[in-house]
Amino acid sequence: MTMTDPTMLADAALWRTRDLAVLWHPCTQMREHPDTLPLVPISHGRGVWLHGMDGNRYLDAVSSWWTNLFGHAEPRIANAIAEQAQRLEHVIFAGFSHQPAVELAESLLALAPPGLARVFLADNGSAAVEVALKMSFHSFFNRGDTRRRKFIALHNGYHGETLGALAVGDIPLYRRIYAPLLIEPLFAPSPDAWLAEPGESAHDHAVRAAAALAVILAEQGEDVCALILEPLVQCAGGMRMYHPEYLRRARALCDQHGIHLIADEIAVGFGRSGSLFACEQAAITPDFLCLSKGLTGGFLPLSAVLTTAAVYEAFLDDSRERAFLHSHSYTGNPIACAAALATLAIFRDEPVLERNRTTAAHMAQLAAPIGEHPHVAQVRQTGMILAFELGQANSREPLPAAQRTGLCAYRAALQRGVLLRPLGDVLYWMPPYCISADELHHLAQVTAAVIDESTRACA
Ligand code: PMP
Repeated sequence: MTMTDPTMLADAALWRTRDLAVLWHPCTQMREHPDTLPLVPISHGRGVWLHGMDGNRYLDAVSSWWTNLFGHAEPRIANAIAEQAQRLEHVIFAGFSHQPAVELAESLLALAPPGLARVFLADNGSAAVEVALKMSFHSFFNRGDTRRRKFIALHNGYHGETLGALAVGDIPLYRRIYAPLLIEPLFAPSPDAWLAEPGESAHDHAVRAAAALAVILAEQGEDVCALILEPLVQCAGGMRMYHPEYLRRARALCDQHGIHLIADEIAVGFGRSGSLFACEQAAITPDFLCLSKGLTGGFLPLSAVLTTAAVYEAFLDDSRERAFLHSHSYTGNPIACAAALATLAIFRDEPVLERNRTTAAHMAQLAAPIGEHPHVAQVRQTGMILAFELGQANSREPLPAAQRTGLCAYRAALQRGVLLRPLGDVLYWMPPYCISADELHHLAQVTAAVIDESTRACA
């Protein structure tokens, strides 16, 4: 952390005050600003570092809500955006087209699991989920199967905050208050390996969760349009991880019952899970693949829903009502598409996944001694996602929520120049892929220190 001069501190304080006078921040109890939670004005970013207006810098261990892949202000993506902005900033995407969107759709289909044939663009993750849910329902409707209007979702899943996406999520903190407004999905048990019985392997737990899904489908399968899930990692649900066998079995069950599988890879796509897409680890193709976040390297909001020719063809008709009329003003925004193409070019030109394997192995090495801490109940990892489940000393029992240990850890890490924003009492590393060995080392040292400090101070 660089040390601060008084003019910079004054500058930061001024921006903080102006912000808190007019803005309303997401996922925040605004009452906690400015006292419980510091608000951190940022002036610029470079690589894994966010530079604060107070002169301090912060290692972005969470890739700014899991969006950033190759570092802040990555020059190739920044340049592609600047060039595109000077050529065509936006054009209505109904009836009109442009090169970046066409090339992006071609590239995504070439990279995605085999069998996906169409790309629908939207502008954030929740919108992609809404699109997939609506498309699934509507495609059955268009084929005369009007009985299917239910979705199956997993316990502890998360798919976004708009009403449809929230409805198929199962995190009480976000969902409970809005429950009276939401469609009611059928919730199936999560394959989350943390929930395995003593002596039960992750694989066997996945098999057991799939058996429970089979029961739901046997009873109500004819009413169901789709199963929606986050492949391999339930990210917002606390970076809970599961065995790919669940995906294989879920795919088979969906086929058996003639329902769609919606894979929400908004968080785990683009190399986070170790493979380009998490579904690859189970060798399955979903009927809908939802992508966002890393799609633009973390630069601009954009999402894509990839689907099959069969789904697409269900909408081809003389009637406008049978068309998929869902639209957003900024659908197919050329600048966002250019950012996505520049991101995919980095995957094409550099051995990103191979390098990530080395980085992930280093993360595992550095995390192992931290896992020895009595308050670390588990260290788990899937590719470039590594999580520390905190608990009571030498136990799997959660820490008392009122202690707000995660919040203590967040503040302690910020003071040490690391942005480590926990999910409850789960601390995790999900850094930009460009993180160096030295930076990882620093991250590990700070993590060890804040786990120790927060579990003592808050105990
Ligand atoms: N699905 C998953 C798996 C996510 O992690 C998120 C965002 N955290 C979303 C959907 C929603 O994306 P957005 O925040 O862009 O609406």
